[in-house]
Amino acid sequence: MKPSFYDLNFPDLESVLNQNHLNASAAAVLFNWHYKKKESTQCRDNIAKNSLAFFQDNFDFSLPEIDTVHESKKDRSVKFLFKLKDNHKIETVLIPFHNKYSICLSSQVGCALNCSFCFTGKQGLKRNLTTSEIVGQFLQAWRWLAQNRRGEERILNIVFMGQGEPLHNFDAVKKACEIFLSKHGTSIGVQKITISTAGYIPGLKRWGQEIPGVNLALSLHSPFPEKRNELIPINIKYPLEDVLSYIDKITLNKKQFITYEYILIKDFNDSPDDAQKLGTMLAGKRAYINLIPFNPFPGSHYKRPDLDTIEQFKAVLDTFKIPTLIRGTKGDDVLAACGQLNSK
Ligand code: SAH
Repeated sequence: MKPSFYDLNFPDLESVLNQNHLNASAAAVLFNWHYKKKESTQCRDNIAKNSLAFFQDNFDFSLPEIDTVHESKKDRSVKFLFKLKDNHKIETVLIPFHNKYSICLSSQVGCALNCSFCFTGKQGLKRNLTTSEIVGQFLQAWRWLAQNRRGEERILNIVFMGQGEPLHNFDAVKKACEIFLSKHGTSIGVQKITISTAGYIPGLKRWGQEIPGVNLALSLHSPFPEKRNELIPINIKYPLEDVLSYIDKITLNKKQFITYEYILIKDFNDSPDDAQKLGTMLAGKRAYINLIPFNPFPGSHYKRPDLDTIEQFKAVLDTFKIPTLIRGTKGDDVLAACGQLNSK
């Protein structure tokens, strides 16, 4: 099988050209053509015929196939189910805001973490995604917008909050970020990419060193060890305390904040005491808190708290002066909200 063109970051592409005695200046044109212009023909004409033929002969340009598309009637979110070459399926979500979109990418087929509140976790881990499968979700979603919502094909934010633990698949995720960031291609700003993790410390160490500037979101979910162990079993191996003290040591850019995600589950972690402890833990840090009311899925025993409880929880955090957002439930009518992705 031919290697995928979409597995190459810009330096990889230059070295392929060099090794094959082709003009390395084609790298910028190829990136521009595939990622910026999304394959309009003008760029193709600017590439030397021998370089073009070399890539057509030796590389695979196929992308994950769109299996089904669900469009939310409520808020115009779009959930894609992609079919991969080995027939595994993954999901990707486009979340609209003011005629622009954020894209929520998957990084693995399934997930190994087995968090008790997460639908994806119930699948177990099937395999890591390749860089081309990650980048391919973005390119296919873009093409779908160009065909179905012409004029709206602007995907300006990328979040790794779909299926999988991105830090368990660091190499492929890192390379996908490098492709998104490349000024020859999509040229997404570093502050527009966020990787969400349950707190896998070896991956966090690499994040700090290898992709500085890419934003980090930590799924915190409870400040109490017993409760966090129950929600996120990886907490037993990598306790929150250690994760937070590691994150505190990372130098952030001037405008950079860490996002702490907190899922609110009725009568489990939604009391004023939970909020008080969370606030004490995060006070004084460069932190945003995202409160995510639990999104139910078939077979889950947890429940979402009522709006009053959610607002009271936020009110406690406000006393600590931590900017807190209650995340909406975009896409929940098509099971596209956080934690509802399951592509079995
Ligand atoms: N493995 C990564 C990224 C995937 S999950 C992580 O743990 O951060 C993305 C976000 O959705 C996480 O904050 C996760 O905790 C949250 N989530 C998972 N299931 C959910 C559910 N049923 N309701 C609400 N949020 C959920």
